[in-house]
Amino acid sequence: MTTIELVRGDITRESVDAIVNAANSSLLGGGGVDGAIHRRGGPAILEDCRKLRASLPQALNSVRAGGTPIGKGLPTGQAVATTAGDLDARWVIHTVGPVFSATEDRSDLLASCYRESLRVADELGARTVAFPAISTGVYRYPMEDAARIAVDTVRTARTDVEEVRFVLFDAPAYEVFAAQLR
Ligand code: ADP
Repeated sequence: MTTIELVRGDITRESVDAIVNAANSSLLGGGGVDGAIHRRGGPAILEDCRKLRASLPQALNSVRAGGTPIGKGLPTGQAVATTAGDLDARWVIHTVGPVFSATEDRSDLLASCYRESLRVADELGARTVAFPAISTGVYRYPMEDAARIAVDTVRTARTDVEEVRFVLFDAPAYEVFAAQLR
């Protein structure tokens, strides 16, 4: 049984085995929670990300960061782990959420982020994992849909993770997750 906890605040302040990052395919950092994790975690995380990225088999030429083709990247819905640097965690698990689309249902990809992150957590032996609300920032996923997918996926996941903490940055997001848990 996995316990689900809700926390309102900054995920970079959490003390857990693994902190999940809502990364982008480039793994080279970005804004939002990604920027906050790299800022507080220090350069060791980016160094690990660069190494990981170099070892990825996928060439995602259609993905662009700042207008330039990024070449290799982590596909949407997948997850990889790095050091957590100076954060109070052992690992950061980077996952790439889908950009919300009004015309295409991408909920399977968002569910995959949670499932794959928990699979990576199991591989690492992580027992406590903190998640942000993946895809609900720059990637524009509606909070209600994102919360339902997050909670359903974690509730039905087969994992050895004992505690999942959803860390919501603001009060409205917290309320949406709280309603979903009830
Ligand atoms: P995405 O590109 O997946 O949408 P964002 O980082 O833009 O990722 O936003 C994802 C969610 O994380 C948003 O709900 C945003 O408010 C929240 N967020 C931003 N910074 C933090 C933080 N330091 N801790 C927890 N959540 C955060």
